[in-house]
Amino acid sequence: MSKLIDNFGRQIAYVRLAVTDRCNLRCQYCMPAHGIDIVPKQELLTFKEMYRLIRVLTELGVTKVRLTGGEPFVRKDFVGFLEMLSYNDLLDAINITTNGALISKYIADIEKLEKVKNINLSIDSLKAVKFNEITRRNAFDAVFKTMELLEKSTLKLKLNVVVQSGINTDEIKDFVRLTKDRNLAVRFIEEMPFNGNGQREMNENWTFNKILNEIETEFKVTEVQSEKSSTSRNYTIENHRGTFGIIPAFTRSICNDCNRIRITSTGTFKNCLFDDGVFNLREFIRNGASNDDLKKLFLSLVKEKPANGFIAEANRTKGGVSESMSTIGG
Ligand code: SAM
Ligand code: SF4
Repeated sequence: MSKLIDNFGRQIAYVRLAVTDRCNLRCQYCMPAHGIDIVPKQELLTFKEMYRLIRVLTELGVTKVRLTGGEPFVRKDFVGFLEMLSYNDLLDAINITTNGALISKYIADIEKLEKVKNINLSIDSLKAVKFNEITRRNAFDAVFKTMELLEKSTLKLKLNVVVQSGINTDEIKDFVRLTKDRNLAVRFIEEMPFNGNGQREMNENWTFNKILNEIETEFKVTEVQSEKSSTSRNYTIENHRGTFGIIPAFTRSICNDCNRIRITSTGTFKNCLFDDGVFNLREFIRNGASNDDLKKLFLSLVKEKPANGFIAEANRTKGGVSESMSTIGG
């Protein structure tokens, strides 16, 4: 079987698929208050098209998929799509990133799907007023309830916390404290400029090192060995049930071991979060491409994967990084 190997010898095993560009929240670091210009429905990939693209990718060695958005659960019958994807015998794991506001009623159904193992829940503040300010919606109670239900479920729970200067940096240690008695992994993410031009000014740069230093003012941490392709560096604290990690999303020190590609909700293939889209898969398949055509295409597209996110950003042709993360699929 041909494998997806780029020019730097990195084997692609993980695809992130945005199932929609729509969202029920308006996080300040992700989009402007009025939202983004969503695309007409017919420009979104259908679930059948997504299933087919993932199937072809798994025949080329992809074993893991992360479903994201926009908010995946905003898309009608997303849980049905999870079931459909579960039939792909070449897939080992289906992970989901969600804001959690709509999902509590689906948790029992999701638990039954053997391949759905990890849920990343985005929660940037443990204080209702602040959370609602960040997301510009009153969703704190629903998201907090989801967190508690997920923690008790059979799913592995990670909390995604975007570290925003002057907004939630005072809560970094509160999030670490949460790992004392709870079986969850907190992952602090460096904020990136993917905000659809909706962001307030950032007055201080909370990088990986700065976040770690802040945590070390109170906790004695030990780094744990992570999977080579992990997006985060991960740590334990003695007597804590949970763990924490930091994702150097903006300082990009993890690119050497990247094993990921992305497909946006409109079918744009991306080799890197920071590139501006490499190929329109939707048109390719709607114009009649066969699975063999798709395989040849993927094998050649990954050869264009840039060495790192800085090169990807420098190679952009459509202007600087400013698109909303909800169009890319974070
Ligand atoms: N709506 C879902 C959610 O919020 O979890 C899935 C899509 S969201 C785009 C995926 C992840 O990207 C979330 O954890 C979110 O916090 C993160 N994200 C969005 N904009 C970001 C930014 N400008 N910088 C860093 N992370 C960002
Ligand atoms: Fe929606 Fe997720 Fe973006 Fe927040 S981060 S606006 S929940 S897509």
